[in-house]
Amino acid sequence: MARQLMQKCKKCGVYLLTRECQDCDGIAQAAAPMKWSPEDKHAHIRRKIEGVEEDGWSETLPTLAPKEEE
Ligand SMILES: [Zn+2]
Repeated sequence: MARQLMQKCKKCGVYLLTRECQDCDGIAQAAAPMKWSPEDKHAHIRRKIEGVEEDGWSETLPTLAPKEEE
């Protein structure tokens, strides 16, 4: 995974996954790393980047060894 996928439009400030803003045709540049927060306002973007809503994502998760399960 790339170190910095999240881009932020310099013109309107929207977060993007591409270098070009579809809202205002502005140019996006790498956004500052997001801090984790309990509210996680960017969770929907993070889920999009990681493909959480796509089929098969759950199979990519690590599983516990049988003896570690309670
Ligand atoms: Zn924009």
